[in-house]
Amino acid sequence: MVPPAIAWKGDNVGLHLGNRSDTIKHIVVALDPTLEAAQFAKKRNANLIVTHHPLFFHPIKNITDSSPVGALSLYLAQHKINLYSAHTNLDSVRWGVNGALAERLGVTNVSILSPLSDSMVKITVFVPRTHTERVAAAMHDAGAGMFAHYDHCSFRSSGTGTFRAGSGATPYLGTVGALESADEHRLEMPCEVWKTGEVLAAMRKTHPYEEIAYDIYPLSNSHAEFGLGAIGDLRKPVSVKDFLRFVQKKLGTGALRYTAGTKKNIRRVAVCGGSGSELIGEAIRQKADAMITADIKYHAFRDNEHAMTLIDAGHYETERLVLPVLARRIRSIVAPRTRSQRISITLYENNPVHYHAG
Ligand SMILES: [Zn+2]
Repeated sequence: MVPPAIAWKGDNVGLHLGNRSDTIKHIVVALDPTLEAAQFAKKRNANLIVTHHPLFFHPIKNITDSSPVGALSLYLAQHKINLYSAHTNLDSVRWGVNGALAERLGVTNVSILSPLSDSMVKITVFVPRTHTERVAAAMHDAGAGMFAHYDHCSFRSSGTGTFRAGSGATPYLGTVGALESADEHRLEMPCEVWKTGEVLAAMRKTHPYEEIAYDIYPLSNSHAEFGLGAIGDLRKPVSVKDFLRFVQKKLGTGALRYTAGTKKNIRRVAVCGGSGSELIGEAIRQKADAMITADIKYHAFRDNEHAMTLIDAGHYETERLVLPVLARRIRSIVAPRTRSQRISITLYENNPVHYHAG
């Protein structure tokens, strides 16, 4: 759902604290791992909290009640509450933080602003034609051949394989010592890097040869489903003033900080929930009229003052929209087989930032 492998290097995602063998009864989904969220979970007898921001991010030297992280860890352990974080991997799935933000703002024709690269390989295997369908099906079942909105993507070309089995070999075709040739398919399909092991295992299980000829090619193609930020178009152009009013209302931000930009109307919009200043240049390159992100520093505003309407709409406000989406996705994968297995999921929302106006 949110592969840990697509998280930034140096991020810390996955199960931070808990017992892998626990049976989950009630899940709380929250943006931040806080003591208040843990107390909320305990009150509802939840034994798993799924957060966006990680509990353990910086190295820690001890777990005591002298720090918020230590106190929270002790509380979670004491009350047998597990904690799992999906951080930059949740930022990087198409439907995640940025997909939810773009959808809330009515952005259409959405594509990923900075797609993930180096996340794909191509697996090519040489299969006797009698076994092509079996091998291909097994590789697809293990997750290979997915491409944007398509699955079961593969290519086959026909050819002749040659080999001579040496002593000690037990060849599937032909005899030891004789030069053999076989009608084969060159079967190839794209595969996400982190699925390679499982796909190769499935291929080996169904391939009849004792020694299998296969190649794994790293691809530099961008991934269509994974990456940071999102960009697309509003259905019709709106004035900067109306757009600001719209963003504030849709996100519920107490106050927006922004640069006026030079365009009268906004049509092309880039978003990056949370701290997305490093994508400002990419948004300008892709001709965004406006970008909505958070944690923008003064100098980033100054440097891009005339480039576009750059809007800081709050870290919490630009990320919280993913929580109900994440809850729905979790619900769909833990759908119960019986009524007694039903897992309830509750959102915990609490913005630490308040706005003082007037
Ligand atoms: Zn964040």
